[in-house]
Amino acid sequence: MNTFNDKIALVTGGGRGIGEACAVALAEAGADVAVCSRSAGEIDAVAGRIRAAGRRALAMVCDVTDADQVRRMAEEAHSKFGAVEILVNNAGLGRSHRFVDHPDELWDLMLAVNLTGAYRVTKAFVPKMIEARRGRVINVASVMSKIGGKYVAAYAAAKHGVLGLTRALAVELAGYNITVNAVCPGYVDTPMTNDNIANIVAKTGAPETEARKALEKLNPQNRLIKPEEVAAVVVMLAGDVARGISGQAINIDGGAVMF
Ligand code: NDP
Repeated sequence: MNTFNDKIALVTGGGRGIGEACAVALAEAGADVAVCSRSAGEIDAVAGRIRAAGRRALAMVCDVTDADQVRRMAEEAHSKFGAVEILVNNAGLGRSHRFVDHPDELWDLMLAVNLTGAYRVTKAFVPKMIEARRGRVINVASVMSKIGGKYVAAYAAAKHGVLGLTRALAVELAGYNITVNAVCPGYVDTPMTNDNIANIVAKTGAPETEARKALEKLNPQNRLIKPEEVAAVVVMLAGDVARGISGQAINIDGGAVMF
C-alpha cells in the first residue's frame, strides 16, 4: 500500500511506544519518516525499521522543551529531508503527584513537554505547510484531555491544553488546507504505562499483575490499548480520506469516555 506517495512525516517521541508505532505505520503506508527524541539509541533503531519498510528515515536528537533544539531540528529536517507534510506531536511525559504538595518544577516540566513542546514543534513546521497549502497536524493527547483523575493535575491540565491548541489551530489553519486533530488514548501498552504500573507497585505494595489489571479495568474492554491501534487512527487522519476532519479529538479507549 502506498497511500502517502512519498509524503514526509515527522513523529516526535518516535523512539518507543506510540511514537514508534506511528513512525512504522506511516512508513508502511508510504511516507518518508523523521523521528526525534532526547536519546539517540531508540530513534536510530526506529529509523532502521522505517528503512526496512522501504522508506527514507531521519533520526534527530531533540528535546521538544528546548526552543533552540526545536529550531535546529526543523532546519535539519528541511535541509536533509524536505518539507514535512504530516506532523505527529507525540512526545510526552506521564508523571503523577498529589496536588497539595505538587512540586512546581514537576508542574513546569509537565506543561513544557506535553503542551509547550507541541506548540513549539508545530510553530517550527507549520510555515512550510502554509507555503505548500497542505498539511496534517496530529496531536497525541489523552483521555486526560477530557476528564480528570487523582494525582494527574499537571498531566490533565497539559493534555486539556493540547485540545485547546488543536481546536484553535484547526480553525486558524483551515484556509491553508491544513487539518489539526488529536487522538485521545486510554491506557496503552507502552513503556510509559509500565512506568505507571511500577509506580503503583512502589506506592501501594500491590503485585505487578494487580496493578496492571487495575489499569486494564478502566477500559470497558478490560484491556490495554495497543500502540498499533493508535497508529492506525493517526494514519487515517494523515490520509486524504480525512481531509474533512479537523479540530476533532478521537478517543481510543474501548468506550470509557464518550464525549
Ligand atoms: P513512552 O514513554 O513510551 O515514549 C515517549 C517518547 O517520547 C519517547 O520516545 C521519549 O524519548 C520521547 N520524549 C519524552 N520526552 C521528550 C522530550 N522532552 N523531547 C523529545 N522527546 C521526548 O510514552 P508513550 O508512547 O506511552 O506515550 C506517547 C504519547 O502518548 C505521550 O504524549 C503520552 O502522553 C500519550 N499517551 C500515552 C498513554 C499511555 O497509556 N501510554 C495514554 C494516553 C496518551 P526520550 O525519553 O528518549 O526523549
